[in-house]
Amino acid sequence: MNQPLDIDRMHQPDATGFGGYRLLEPRQKYNLAFCTEEEIEIAEHFRGFVERELMPYRHDLEGGWHRDAKLAKDTIHRLYAKLVDFGVTKAILPTKFGGLGYRPIVRQMINEELSRADIGLATKVGKLHWAISVMLAAGREDLIEEFAPRIAGDEAWTACFAITEPAGGANVEDPALEYRTMNVMAREDGDHYVINGHKLWPGPSGKPENFQSQWLKGHLGYWVCAITDRAGGDDNVGIFYVPADAEGLDFSQPYQKMGFSYTESNTDIWFRDVRIPKRYRIDTQRGQGSKLIKGYVIGLGRLAGAARLTGLSEAVLEIVMNWTQNRLIAGKPMRERSLFAATIGEMYRAIDISRQYYMSLTAQVMRPEVYGYPWEAHMKAKFSAARSFAGDAAELVTNKGMQLMGSAGYAYESHLEKYMRDYKIVQLWLGGAERDRLDIAQGLYGPFKWAGDA
Ligand SMILES: Cc1cc2nc3c(=O)[nH]c(=O)nc-3n(C[C@H](O)[C@H](O)[C@H](O)COP(=O)(O)OP(=O)(O)OC[C@H]3O[C@@H](n4cnc5c(N)ncnc54)[C@H](O)[C@@H]3O)c2cc1C
Repeated sequence: MNQPLDIDRMHQPDATGFGGYRLLEPRQKYNLAFCTEEEIEIAEHFRGFVERELMPYRHDLEGGWHRDAKLAKDTIHRLYAKLVDFGVTKAILPTKFGGLGYRPIVRQMINEELSRADIGLATKVGKLHWAISVMLAAGREDLIEEFAPRIAGDEAWTACFAITEPAGGANVEDPALEYRTMNVMAREDGDHYVINGHKLWPGPSGKPENFQSQWLKGHLGYWVCAITDRAGGDDNVGIFYVPADAEGLDFSQPYQKMGFSYTESNTDIWFRDVRIPKRYRIDTQRGQGSKLIKGYVIGLGRLAGAARLTGLSEAVLEIVMNWTQNRLIAGKPMRERSLFAATIGEMYRAIDISRQYYMSLTAQVMRPEVYGYPWEAHMKAKFSAARSFAGDAAELVTNKGMQLMGSAGYAYESHLEKYMRDYKIVQLWLGGAERDRLDIAQGLYGPFKWAGDA
């Protein structure tokens, strides 16, 4: 006879919440062809932190069963501050600015390990990594020096990249449209730029006081993609840093969403004659803004998404492994029946291929003189392949995982339903899964030109 449904058992016996089942340890899963022994040790150390400090609070990140907004916000701020204290946000900041100076491969291992607990938190940390990598790529050591005391200091700061606009996010990411559908405009005015327009969805965004608490010091500001001329083209777009308390910034209330419920506060942002000093334009050379957006914002953003999806899928398979070990189907543990074992094999295969591919690609990013620069179309094709494959893997793993667990997986207590709600946005943002496919094709034979396009 079947044992009774005991959802509690799924997250009782140890602090990980996986009932003890763990897939591969960092030493077994991270390929030494792409990283060093020391980098694996860093990942191991970080994994221990994630299991101790984050796993037990996953439900609280959404405010628990009652969706208590205060509990959610406090938990997010508190856990984010712990991550800052652990050095995660400054991991890739060069040591000369007070950072840890880790290589991009560690950035992605952090994304994977952190997403086992919560992909929203990984994304929050990722915003700092994004800003650092864009400023480094632009050669803006002056700006890094300006922000370093906040990025590398003891206090916790959050940051945001603003790309999407109401007329469509995927448009901005379509190279064939050459930014001509973008509306947020930065106009030169003496020693300043004046920014006007409307962004939609960037996160975390909102009034500065929403990002102040006993744990969080504040919002560092917005890295805003904007055009400088409506003619479009690579020379007429840039990235502009706007402080969080700049005059002329206005926000809607955060949107209610099916996932990333509180970790990401997503709002409308209105820019009304927002004046910033000229040095806050990140790109400094003709065409550099477009290269940064294509390569470091979209390209590396998709790569980070691939690593995060891999960690999320791994967490789901761990939950499923535990459940199918204990759940009896016609008197036998479920995972010992060949039908279900084959499904588990299929899930694992997708996860490990996602991991090996994003790691190989990150190793290529670290050797641009050999493989090409991130803004080049063939590299964008690879970033898109990594993100779309990991997205398909997460779709398969969450869906099949829930199928194996039955209603227990559908239950709040399993955590699986949250992973399922969370993974989806990674297939939508930064151009989405369709754009990924198009960018892979375009990487092979150059950007499409839409007949009669804008
Ligand atoms: C939780 C969350 C966090 C976010 N964080 C940020 C952030 O930090 N910064 C930011 O700027 N934005 C952010 N976004 C916005 C997100 O990036 C956009 O919603 C996304 O890029 C898609 O844009 P859209 O919603 O306007 O969809 P649309 O552009 O309208 O696209 C709709 C659908 O059509 C597909 N599509 C569109 N154009 C094409 C085409 N030419 N060919 C084939 N298919 C196409 C898309 O893939 C998508 O599936 C966030 C959104 C959410 C929900």
